[in-house]
Amino acid sequence: MDPRGFPTSLPEFQRVFPDDGACARYLESLRWPIGFTCPKCGRHGEPYRFSARPGVLRCRSCQANISLTASTVMEKSQSPLSTWFWGAYLISTQTPGQSALQFQRQLEIKRYEKAFIMLHKLRAGMVRPERDGIGGEHPVEVDECLLGGRTRGEGRGVHHKTTVIGAVEVRMRNDADVRAAKYRQEHEGGVPLKKLVYAGRLRLRVVDGRGTSNLETFILENVVNGTTVRTDGWPGYEGVPGLGYTHKPLVLGGDHDKTEAHLPMIHLVFSNLKTWILGTHHGVSQQHLQAYLNEYVFRFNRRFYPMTAFNSILGLASHIEAPTYAGLYSGKWVHPAG
Ligand SMILES: [Zn+2]
Repeated sequence: MDPRGFPTSLPEFQRVFPDDGACARYLESLRWPIGFTCPKCGRHGEPYRFSARPGVLRCRSCQANISLTASTVMEKSQSPLSTWFWGAYLISTQTPGQSALQFQRQLEIKRYEKAFIMLHKLRAGMVRPERDGIGGEHPVEVDECLLGGRTRGEGRGVHHKTTVIGAVEVRMRNDADVRAAKYRQEHEGGVPLKKLVYAGRLRLRVVDGRGTSNLETFILENVVNGTTVRTDGWPGYEGVPGLGYTHKPLVLGGDHDKTEAHLPMIHLVFSNLKTWILGTHHGVSQQHLQAYLNEYVFRFNRRFYPMTAFNSILGLASHIEAPTYAGLYSGKWVHPAG
């Protein structure tokens, strides 16, 4: 269990959400943190509950049936709440994501079509572009990479390389001082930056090449003005200072180690991204690549906030103060960050 009370393993998840009733109580607690209020007549107080229909509450005053899944991805679905919850948990926490076939098998869904539609609905919550700027007090690394996708039906070895630009925040670890001291005890020379930092928020975009205007537009739309921006020595970045950023290009680059030392985080992101795209999806066409990048970014940016990811995948409003099931029952509810 993580500090906010969100399950961090499948058995734990099973204990927190053992059945449809537990899922329903979670939905109810999100929507009415201080107890049920009828949206039809406004009466506050315990509703009627039906064990055979856990997704519905009935107002004791006006007798209206209130659906707990209204305005969520589960609305009007015949599938059990627990299946939806399992599904959202799987795709929000498992780094490689899920294929529809894996999803169908793991959740023991009888028909493939049903699994496919559920997965599609859950994933729709992950492919929205994230629009707020990153950086600010944290420096940002910006770089481009080529992603190769093989097109079906074409000859062996035919690749369509697509350019992807990425920007990632570089955040200092809380225990950076301790780590630096420990490193100096064991090694000669300076402490490599990547021992002291971790990746913050990420942005990725498909572009048609690494021309100046593509790079500058991406930076302007994704990085907060005034941020320190680290890049390689590519001339396409020369205009960055004029856009209102503190530019730290790699000077006298060229060798691999120097580039690694200057841009460790974005290179790590690109490396993991390539593995994910090739491994899980066996390459994706350029047409769909941005949607996959958005999904990758969604999961990456919420890896420390699994509950936020879980709730938004289910279509549960994330602005609502969301108590966890465990937090709710222990009385130690803590507001989630992110
Ligand atoms: Zn009512």
